[in-house]
Amino acid sequence: MKKKRTTEDWLELARRFEPGCMNWQAPVVWDHGQGAEIWDVDGKHYYDWTSGVLVTNAGHAHPRLAEALAKQASRLLNTFDFPTPERLTLAQRLIELMPAGLTKVIFMTTGAEALDAALRLARRYTGNFEVVAFWGGFHGRSYGPMSVTGIAKIRHHFGPTVPGTILAPYPYCYRCPFEKAHPECELFCLDFLDKVVEVESSGFLAGLVVEPYQGTAGFIFPPPGYLKKLEEWAKKKKLVFILDEVQSSYGRTGRMWALEHENLQPDILCLGKGIGSGAPLAAVVSRSEIFACLGPGEMSSTMGGNPLSCAGALAVLEIMAEERLVEKAAMNGEYLKNRLLHLQNKFPFIGDVRGMGLVYGIEFVKDRKTKEPAPELAQQIVLKCVANGLMCGKLGIHGNVMRVAPPLVITREQIDASTTILEKVLATF
Ligand code: PLP
Repeated sequence: MKKKRTTEDWLELARRFEPGCMNWQAPVVWDHGQGAEIWDVDGKHYYDWTSGVLVTNAGHAHPRLAEALAKQASRLLNTFDFPTPERLTLAQRLIELMPAGLTKVIFMTTGAEALDAALRLARRYTGNFEVVAFWGGFHGRSYGPMSVTGIAKIRHHFGPTVPGTILAPYPYCYRCPFEKAHPECELFCLDFLDKVVEVESSGFLAGLVVEPYQGTAGFIFPPPGYLKKLEEWAKKKKLVFILDEVQSSYGRTGRMWALEHENLQPDILCLGKGIGSGAPLAAVVSRSEIFACLGPGEMSSTMGGNPLSCAGALAVLEIMAEERLVEKAAMNGEYLKNRLLHLQNKFPFIGDVRGMGLVYGIEFVKDRKTKEPAPELAQQIVLKCVANGLMCGKLGIHGNVMRVAPPLVITREQIDASTTILEKVLATF
């Protein structure tokens, strides 16, 4: 009988056949998942604080989603740009859930593709090419989105990038670039935007792209009121306001869309990740008058809006409504947040805990006063958590932030069990 391959066997294959350029992860080979739990190829169990990478909001292997995908797979997989009932029903449902004014949607496959399309749309619509983006912003790895990404190591030696990006500081209040404190700062970083544009722009401003919270930079949440004022600023300057909700949407922040927290009215909204809860899909939503600048054949994608992913995304919307996942994310998120804040009080090497709904960053520091980042410590903590059955990862500009982003189906019991693992691990450092 053939011997079952173990984690070590699979990791050896990874070393032999994969290039090793993907993000660092603890050495686990996932086998299957259920809700907010995962099992690896050796049968070891984990609570999941990753949702993949904030993707499986409806939980791993949701039977309803699995059934919708299986049914669709046996009917029709690709039509290219021929419309299908799945794509059109999804378009209608999404637009019904959008703020007024966002009336049309085109589907793509990945977040980067959606951002690329949004940037092209803003440029075509305005006839200009400059885009204001932010320090720490992350919008994807292909050239368009990478060019408006404000993390140097992501662009490192890949230049020259697409011209026209104007980078401005984002309100990373824990490490304010101006060494000010909120609210006494009166959002100085917003006033500073005028200076940035005055110095940097050659007069061809097309748009502004921003995440409602910065994910990859380390789950950095702007202070309340910032985004609305930013939107007002963008509109005053006649910039197309592009909101990148690739990771913040689909209930993650305790609202269906993060834009709801401040009643934002973006000109273009980008969705991805949670839209299919694992079925690969992304979307660009905008106003009819903006999309009208594109003629037939000017925006399209082979896999975008494929019937398989659209059937999956329809099932996701049904699951979210029936299981009230947005409300659950808000309520259970508060509970999780309190548990994490308790840990911050207890362990001096936790510099900051921030987030809302079911997305939190735990920032590890060597010293609370100096705030010196502790990336090695973060890595050791992640490795030990994973060894003890808590699937998690780290990220951030300094590599010192633990990601806390479980599937929205996580229960109170699972929150208790998983935070207890973290607390026990933290107590060993
Ligand atoms: N935008 C944001 C805010 C993201 O977090 C990501 C991915 O992490 C992307 C865009 C790119 O998405 P994808 O990896 O699907 O291309």
